[in-house]
Amino acid sequence: MDHSDHSRDAAIEVAAGLRAGAQYIAGRLRPGTSGRHHEVVDPATGEAVYSCELAGPADVDAAVAAARAALPQWAGATPGERSQAMHRFAEVLAGRARELALAESLQCGKPVRLTTGFDVPGTIDNTAFFAGAARRLQGQAAAEYSGDHTSYVRREPVGVVGSIAPWNYPLQMAAWKVLPAVAAGNTVVLKPAELTPLTSLMFAQAATEAGIPAGVVNVVTGAGRDAGEHLVGHPDVAMTSFTGSTAVGKRVAEIATRTVKRLHLELGGKAPFVVFDDADLQAAAHGAVAGALINTGQDCTAATRAYVQRPLYDAFVTAVADLFNAVTCGDPFDPATDLGPLTSFAQRDRVAAFVDRARSYATVVTGGTAPDAKGAYYRPTLITGAAQDSEVVRSEIFGPVLVVLPFDTDEEGLRLANDTPYGLAASAWTRDVYRAGRATREIAAGCVWVNDHIPIISEMPHGGYRASGYGKDMSAYSFEEYTQVKHVMLDNTGQAAKGWHRTVFALRGER
Ligand code: NAD
Repeated sequence: MDHSDHSRDAAIEVAAGLRAGAQYIAGRLRPGTSGRHHEVVDPATGEAVYSCELAGPADVDAAVAAARAALPQWAGATPGERSQAMHRFAEVLAGRARELALAESLQCGKPVRLTTGFDVPGTIDNTAFFAGAARRLQGQAAAEYSGDHTSYVRREPVGVVGSIAPWNYPLQMAAWKVLPAVAAGNTVVLKPAELTPLTSLMFAQAATEAGIPAGVVNVVTGAGRDAGEHLVGHPDVAMTSFTGSTAVGKRVAEIATRTVKRLHLELGGKAPFVVFDDADLQAAAHGAVAGALINTGQDCTAATRAYVQRPLYDAFVTAVADLFNAVTCGDPFDPATDLGPLTSFAQRDRVAAFVDRARSYATVVTGGTAPDAKGAYYRPTLITGAAQDSEVVRSEIFGPVLVVLPFDTDEEGLRLANDTPYGLAASAWTRDVYRAGRATREIAAGCVWVNDHIPIISEMPHGGYRASGYGKDMSAYSFEEYTQVKHVMLDNTGQAAKGWHRTVFALRGER
């Protein structure tokens, strides 16, 4: 095996290693039983690179049963034991970094520069972070708050967690869903998007290889309506953790509520990028291009709406247009490629339809076309002249499209930034500390960057406000969400007739 081989052929060989099936249940790959055949397509070529049988309800039942069976032993392990197994998990993933990057590039069309520099190292770092977090559950100190009792808090695992992930960052989303749950002693059934199951399966295999018991991490590859809804409604699943679109998130919430499940929802975004007139123009233009084009714009935190204060507006549009035009669209396996295809032809057509509709009410300054190539490519597209209430400004497009709008006063810029239903992420560009402080206070989003856009880090929470959902991924906050809090209260008096019993019956004799 050539460890420097980052070719498509090498990626196809990695996918072939999963030929035993796209379901990972109780520590073993197996085919699904839905009777529905499915092909994973390389979006850069349009060719099928992996075939599988999808999961149906019976496979979900089997995975949930495996997760239930594994729960007592895993929940009963000491934090130190869980931590050690997860440190080994990080090592196994690091040993597979090349294969994971290849499979992720193959199924998503992500440039290998992105998967080797971001998706895979981020996942390994997350695994190491949660290995450490497993030993560090925080809580209130035990104390005699009532005077007569000792009170303390136990943080216990919730049980079997049913997780559902999208196709834009399949490996990282699997990690964000599985790691905090497992660190806290839960067991998991993960349903990846059927477009992109490869790296979720490899991730689960690596967990078993690291010594995490079979059944702790299971993967069912199936359709949302079928396997997804069955998992969300399953009576033996205690918590649903969902990352995906706001529309599907609402449906998931409805189903989960019927069985009173704990819910964690990471939904869509439409991140504003606010450039004040004292900003470093070059930094803002570079930040907008990188923030809009990362992962071909299929990023829930991508910069999608740039609001630029009038004095910088024309120069910003020109600078971004020049940089957009200089981006190289191409084969994800070519290290010189900046921008890969979208992850599916359906997504490319959806993005193109948004831009085509916008031509009637706005100006398409760059892009707006697909290059003459067989993959699901779309050129970096810059749109100006759109009204604040137009579709391209308000709806999540999820592609390499940036809309730029001008504003006059600081108040107006911040008001427009908040004027969509979403609230996942935002950035403010300024050299004025007071403006930066105001923007970070007033923008209603789960993350606000200042003079940057996109970086994430294992120690810090990621999650939305408003229609972008609730619940946090990564960080100690996410770890806590996969636990339930129990108050334990121990009587210290040893008395039969306790002082507070006076509220129920008159005390007879001495206490
Ligand atoms: P999607 O909502 O279409 O699908 C997400 C997952 O839900 C997939 O696994 C899908 O099979 C499953 N699903 C679909 N219908 C279902 C149903 N009725 N019941 C249960 N499961 C169902 O989203 P997508 O197109 O895969 O991903 C893109 C979306 O994900 C964007 O909106 C993006 O913003 C969002 N996203 C959010 C975050 C975040 O952290 N907030 C991160 C990544 C992606």
